[in-house]
Amino acid sequence: MDEQLRELRLREERAFLRSVVRGGRPPQPGEGTEHPAPAPAAARPVSAGTGQWEPPAARDGDAEEPHGRRGTRAQPIVPEPLASDAELWAPPAPVSPRDRSLIAEAVSRSAFLRRLGQGCPQALAQSFAPARHGPGDTVLAEGDEGTAMYVVAEGQLSVSQHGRPLRTLGPGDVFGELAILYHCQRTATVRALTAVRLWAIDRQRYRAIVTSNAKQRRAEILGCLRAVHWLRGLSDTHLSQLLDAMEECTFAPGHVIIREGDEGQSFYIILRGEVRVSRRVDGAEKVIRVLGAGEHFGEISLLQNIRRTASCQAQGEVTCITVAKEDFLEISPFCPRQRAESDPPATEAPALVEPGRAPGSPGRGEPPAPARLEELAAVRYEEGRERGRSVVLGAGGFGRVELVRCRERLFALKRIRKDWVVQTRQQEHVRTERRVLALSRSPFVVGFFGSFRDGQYVYLLLEFCQGGELWTKLREVRCFEEPTAVFCSACVVEALEYLHGHGIIYRDLKPENLMLDLQGYVKLVDFGFAKVLERGEKTYSLCGTPEYLAPEILRQEGHDFAVDFWMLGILVFEMLVGRPPFHGTEPQKIYSRILDGIFSFPAFLSEAACSLISKLCRRRPGQRLGNTASGIRGIKKHRWFAALRWKKLVLRQLRAPTLRLIRQGPPYANFKRFSADWTPAQDEFSGWDEDF
Ligand code: ATP
Ligand code: MG
Repeated sequence: MDEQLRELRLREERAFLRSVVRGGRPPQPGEGTEHPAPAPAAARPVSAGTGQWEPPAARDGDAEEPHGRRGTRAQPIVPEPLASDAELWAPPAPVSPRDRSLIAEAVSRSAFLRRLGQGCPQALAQSFAPARHGPGDTVLAEGDEGTAMYVVAEGQLSVSQHGRPLRTLGPGDVFGELAILYHCQRTATVRALTAVRLWAIDRQRYRAIVTSNAKQRRAEILGCLRAVHWLRGLSDTHLSQLLDAMEECTFAPGHVIIREGDEGQSFYIILRGEVRVSRRVDGAEKVIRVLGAGEHFGEISLLQNIRRTASCQAQGEVTCITVAKEDFLEISPFCPRQRAESDPPATEAPALVEPGRAPGSPGRGEPPAPARLEELAAVRYEEGRERGRSVVLGAGGFGRVELVRCRERLFALKRIRKDWVVQTRQQEHVRTERRVLALSRSPFVVGFFGSFRDGQYVYLLLEFCQGGELWTKLREVRCFEEPTAVFCSACVVEALEYLHGHGIIYRDLKPENLMLDLQGYVKLVDFGFAKVLERGEKTYSLCGTPEYLAPEILRQEGHDFAVDFWMLGILVFEMLVGRPPFHGTEPQKIYSRILDGIFSFPAFLSEAACSLISKLCRRRPGQRLGNTASGIRGIKKHRWFAALRWKKLVLRQLRAPTLRLIRQGPPYANFKRFSADWTPAQDEFSGWDEDF
């Protein structure tokens, strides 16, 4: 695309289509009006640690981020292991009924907390612990590690940032909410102005309660679904999928949920309240029965094309979960459309091995991979300020990835600090990273050649992806032309199909974790958040990258393979637009937008791209393309991929449009340069790393 066209696109980006996508409604063409230009992305600090990312501004002047583009590499949220019951045990604090309702009301008034959950159940309100502070005391300090959230019961507090007063807090106000989601630094200071009485809850306790509530709620609803006679015969995995596609809705007293004679569109299960069922007999409304919690109505419409045979009206306020006919047909094994398909089942795993080459094994004419760490020699920069220094391909809090050579063959060596692993309790995740890499054999997943360990580090020896990070390429061209985005997304779809087929969720899709090889093909690297999961099972840790988190991860209600499809939708958007769809200066703003599921498409996006993104970013995981009955085939058959030859892609017979983004030169030509100053790692011998 030439410069002029790109500029035009960027100008158009200001005039966003005001297409509010709620639960995946596709954008309506021509719905556009002016949209405020999004705020520039916050410059997120790169975590202090062993290596330092040199500020891009110093090298290529890209610190300024117009149009809300992501200015810095995303900071991942590292999963925390659940606290044990013993760790959580504390003598119950007596919470008076007055304070309980103060806490419950404060939680329901906070826009952020309200979006996160279903109000404040008793168990949560009772788990707050009391705290008191005198005038002048600092309750939270900017930069401190956040572990708890607070509700003010009595007194006044001031909030300030960089010494600037922001606001005053009083009874019923909530502060420090972000800390209940994950480990984060406080961004403001809160000081008591008077004597204050607070209620506090820490992250581990909040998480334990929210997670156990979600499990209980899910079990109850699954129990209701099992009791529906026409769903008998469906496996628990299918019922669980149906539940994932259902939405909660509340009806005001007297609301007619279903009207006799109307065309049936949805099926309902009552969670709370009562529903009156009536029929017109000789011109008069005759009540047939009253349905209560756990009972259901409207099912016939899903299976047969007949009109409603009775009316259903809310008696008092009623909460139901519901599924629309079109979504039901997408997931239902009853659906004749699915049965007629002759394609192989979605769960069938693709070939394990890169065509013509076993992963980890040397290619034709390539020397064998090294068996010992000592056989690896650091590759050094040959010119510039860094001349003579060893080449670092990537760095972060974990350690660094270095370019190494063994018998003329290049590798990427990921060196992970063991003291960091133990300190952040990531032993299990690092072991999973190694296990998943060792098991994965796909041309779209980085090759793995072995692992090593010493006193300070564990090492993963990886295929060197010489084309560089997709993130860097995206930053260079601002946004990809559609054929490039289609090609890159197709590689990711192949990788996901492979991983999901082998029971692995990836959970950290983003351009920073996608690397190009010399042929311009995309490979997934970084399996730090990957998880092995059974079908129908859920996992609960909060991890990923803020802009890419799926709503069910934020709600901590349990997530599964469907999060990768959500993240794929975000990735496609970011590749085409240059920034993710949910963005903001503060994490809470990003999360509120994700939980509301509202975003806009720039006017320049094609209708097919908007359609695909909307279908991938459905709020309910069971409705997401990829996670419906057609599985990943549903994504591959989407019209956005119409021009892509999937078989040729797998055989690597397509010419990659990304090729022109790859620079020629020394092997590190496609990588930024990192400072080589590291804080030395401490020795660590607890023995968690025996597999390495
Ligand atoms: P971070 O906290 O920065 O995300 P991480 O634990 O996620 O670190 P990786 O993503 O695996 O670590 O690696 C960090 C960076 O190192 C990558 O973003 C990439 O730039 C580079 N890198 C990783 N693996 C390879 C590889 N196989 N070939 C070339 N470069 C690589
Ligand atoms: Mg990474």
